Amino acid sequence: MLKAKKKLWSPLSKRLLQTRTISSTTCGFLQNQQQHLSNSQPHSPFPFFSYNNNNKKIQTSSSSGFSSHFLSFSGKSFCSAQSSEKTNLRCWNCNAEPQNAPFLVCESCTTIQPVDHSVDYFQIFGLENKYEIEEDHNLEVKYKNWQKKLHPDLVHSKPEKEREFAAEQSARVIDAYRTLNNALSRAIYILKLEGVNVNEEETVSEPELLAEIMEIREAVEEAPDYQALKEIQSSMQEKLQNWSNSFASAFRGHKFEEAKNCIRRMTYYDRVNEEIVKRL
Ligand SMILES: [Zn+2]
Repeated sequence: MLKAKKKLWSPLSKRLLQTRTISSTTCGFLQNQQQHLSNSQPHSPFPFFSYNNNNKKIQTSSSSGFSSHFLSFSGKSFCSAQSSEKTNLRCWNCNAEPQNAPFLVCESCTTIQPVDHSVDYFQIFGLENKYEIEEDHNLEVKYKNWQKKLHPDLVHSKPEKEREFAAEQSARVIDAYRTLNNALSRAIYILKLEGVNVNEEETVSEPELLAEIMEIREAVEEAPDYQALKEIQSSMQEKLQNWSNSFASAFRGHKFEEAKNCIRRMTYYDRVNEEIVKRL
């Protein structure tokens, strides 16, 4: 019980740690693929935004997201640093130029390309850079499609260089999918793209919330049966959804302090939810 409470009070660091470690591991790849497949999501054209090296948004395009993003590859575009970099992008194997963005796999020879960290997680899935991801974007389908092209097993007989690229790219796509598929980690991530970091060690000091969380935790520990746990879980998910909506609104209005406050609350409810999942 003590251990569980301790975890509850420092949830942000754990959440961020999880996000980080996923990106650096490729072991357990198949198991990873099977997890977190609950939410289906979107499809839209390619991203409307580009980022410079500091991950700051530097340009928006017109509504024709695909062609505008593609323009950055043609060298005629608006975005200075990144686009000139992109114009030099060529397949390391066959020297072909990219036909689509993002350039994770060469369309000409199907060779897996090295990770390009200037491509953010939204861009990997061809998503507009906004917090809400509508269901018709089919995030899960896009994720699986990438893994069909990037899975390390596909290149087991290829040179070591490509095997390394496959391991890195597929791990990054897993990380991207998990990050965007979860309302809390997506909130933390999109704030980070705006240059706003959520303090990993920061905890909520409002006595009211702390008391509420303590009460919920006790209810979880004392829940007599499955049904009782499910009810608490449903209430946590509702709270998470409400704070996620508040985050979306704060983020749209560039009220980043307010957005961070929403994240802190979501973190606590998310932690309780995880505790419940373990007990179910
Ligand atoms: Zn190629």
